[in-house]
Amino acid sequence: MQKFSLHTHTIGFDGRNTEKEMLVKAKELGWTHIGFSNHFIVHPTIKNAPMYKYALKGGYHGIYSSTFDEAVERFLPHYQKIDKLRQETDIKILKGMEVDFFASSEWYDGFSKALEILKPDYLIGSAHFVEHNGILYNSHDVKAASPIEQRQLLHRYWQNERAAAQSGLFTFLAHLDLMKKVGLGQGDEWIEEEQKTIETIQKYGAKVELNTSYFKFGNEPYVSPRMMKMLAITDVPVLISDDAHAAAQLGKYFQQTEDMAKDNGIITLWNPFKKQIKQPFLIAQNRRIL
Ligand SMILES: [Zn+2]
Ligand SMILES: [Zn+2]
Repeated sequence: MQKFSLHTHTIGFDGRNTEKEMLVKAKELGWTHIGFSNHFIVHPTIKNAPMYKYALKGGYHGIYSSTFDEAVERFLPHYQKIDKLRQETDIKILKGMEVDFFASSEWYDGFSKALEILKPDYLIGSAHFVEHNGILYNSHDVKAASPIEQRQLLHRYWQNERAAAQSGLFTFLAHLDLMKKVGLGQGDEWIEEEQKTIETIQKYGAKVELNTSYFKFGNEPYVSPRMMKMLAITDVPVLISDDAHAAAQLGKYFQQTEDMAKDNGIITLWNPFKKQIKQPFLIAQNRRIL
């Protein structure tokens, strides 16, 4: 079974445990590596997005930044903490981030500068938001839209995922069929978008996670068995993520997910820490200007 997670969140962002507490649990599980990947979400109008008032109420608004400086300020002490922890433990710790990708040259420039300062080890690409007519919709906002608008937003969602893959920025892409969280995108009419996206991911050499956090809502991870089959056919590398927001969630449902992946044709999982495989791991090796 996979003995690491690269998709985790900690206190100071929207996680419930400290880096140290996560390490203790990882050690208990016999893991050799853990990556911290807190949210890096920067958009000039993010604080006007409909979801922001709920984030304020829930106390997790700190993960949303309207400028890159703001996000960098938040990450610097977190990464310094990791530097310190690296001296104290034998588990290898990686500095990551879960990045909301926005396809604009302003975003790309700002993000490139942030990378130069923070120097993360790897990047996870995400699309928690769909930008449409100047408004940022999260999955719940998409759910609340009219049926016509909803369809437009979903198409746009898949376009974003493809743009993220094409950017070459990301080590892997997170929870591809995220919209099923609100019951969207599961009908047969979305197979074509899914297929197109997997083909783009294959073409640009990105990887895909199977994210076990959806087990809270259903009996499958992100992505669905139907997308697992597409990943298997196209030979896109796949790894498992717990998306742990608490230490107790580390490694949860890994076995079920691995079994399900096998049942759907994914024979081997991508393991960047296997010595014999020199897999490209560091960020930006495929990076291209938008
Ligand atoms: Zn996410
Ligand atoms: Zn996450």
